[in-house]
Amino acid sequence: MDDIGRNDQLAQWDRDYFMHPSTHLAQHARGEAMGRVIRGASGVHIEDRNGNRLLDAFAGLYCVNVGYGRPEIAEAIAKQAKELAYYHAYVGHGTEAAITLSKMVLERAPDHMSKVYFGLSGSDANETNIKLVWYYNNILGRPEKKKIISRWRGYHGSGLMTGSLTGLPLFHDKFDLPLSPILHTSAPYYYHRDDPDQSEEEFSAQCAAELEELIAREGADTIAAFWAEPMLGTGGIVPPPKGYWEAIQPVLEKHDILLVADEVVTGFGRLGTMFGSEHYGMGPDLITIAKGLTSAYAPLSGSIVSDKMWKVLERGTDENGPIGHGWTYSAHPVGAAAGVANLQLLDDLKLIDNAGTVGAYLNQRLSETFADHPHVGEVRGEGMIAAVEFVEDRDRRKAFDPAKKTCAKIATELLSQGVIARAMPGGDILGFAPPFCLTRENVDEIVDKTAKAVRAAGL
Ligand code: PMP
Repeated sequence: MDDIGRNDQLAQWDRDYFMHPSTHLAQHARGEAMGRVIRGASGVHIEDRNGNRLLDAFAGLYCVNVGYGRPEIAEAIAKQAKELAYYHAYVGHGTEAAITLSKMVLERAPDHMSKVYFGLSGSDANETNIKLVWYYNNILGRPEKKKIISRWRGYHGSGLMTGSLTGLPLFHDKFDLPLSPILHTSAPYYYHRDDPDQSEEEFSAQCAAELEELIAREGADTIAAFWAEPMLGTGGIVPPPKGYWEAIQPVLEKHDILLVADEVVTGFGRLGTMFGSEHYGMGPDLITIAKGLTSAYAPLSGSIVSDKMWKVLERGTDENGPIGHGWTYSAHPVGAAAGVANLQLLDDLKLIDNAGTVGAYLNQRLSETFADHPHVGEVRGEGMIAAVEFVEDRDRRKAFDPAKKTCAKIATELLSQGVIARAMPGGDILGFAPPFCLTRENVDEIVDKTAKAVRAAGL
């Protein structure tokens, strides 16, 4: 069968058999939605089976941080699969890869962190962290302290509890979520503040006051943890306003509420620093990691546990026996081998420094190109992540009618010019989160083509 025949066959099988995540199922099955079959990738480019080469300015789902086609990681995976494809980590079993990776993670984590538990995805790592928070409070003899507060527009996964933590209606509707022990407080989205004259610091103080009111309403004795990405990701790529973490953390400390930093996107360099927590001066009790841990060469996630929590978890098992929590694939050796090679590569090629410097150039060029555009409300970002928010009326910060699908049109135009960016859920927000090996020439191509796409979409 020739290539064209094979492509047609794959397209048919895809429609007939494959139920895709986060997809309009009916349109896909009818062949109306764009389905692209990816064949290969190298550096910052992916290639589909029709021979189109695309610059991936979203690194897959902001996860292929070291870039595609790295032989160092592929070889580490192959070597591990040949020597030992699998052994479990239950009852204290280990593999060289998993043990080495734990040491490498802790060497890079903030000083007050103590241990790492490995899972498969960002969702299951957050699920683990919820259980660790509950276990912790049970061991401390406060069984009522179980509710968790996250933020509207936060993204923490698609499971039952993690989908509940997520603060985007798309992930709740028709799934009977959020579940009851999860509460949401407002997003630190300064651009959408009610009072246009409010300063960033005043807005941050207002967010902290709202959080404190929610805690008072529910009773501090019932609130276990506050869950947050250091910078909002899927919910709009929104860096925190000035003074946000400085205002929030004292409220948590005052009420003995744990802070869980979901660093699935920000962990291992996306902001130009190893962790978002260090970038924003956060002192989390737990950190969730995934994507950047292996640059998505194999599925692996982790829950990094602070000294403070570790001591209580140890006490818990002394009192109650082994912890009843584990997946078959926890600390999977193939994923761990990918993680070791990935973290080594980040160091060897100084890719986090590159994320900082080339990311700054990306942010600067986007600002210069779009900040004064009549339909751009805000250009924002940090390190190797950025967003442009399109609005109908810039002066009144009035959004376009969602039915116009303005940003989706821009993203489609951009794609037709060979660049992948992401229309983020919850607004006309075009997101960029390229691999860290991006060059300044790549930045120029991304920004120039985005400007063309914006014009082609009629803005
Ligand atoms: N937390 C954050 C901050 C994320 O961005 C994501 C995924 N985009 C998740 C958790 C969930 O990770 P996964 O899709 O691997 O379950």
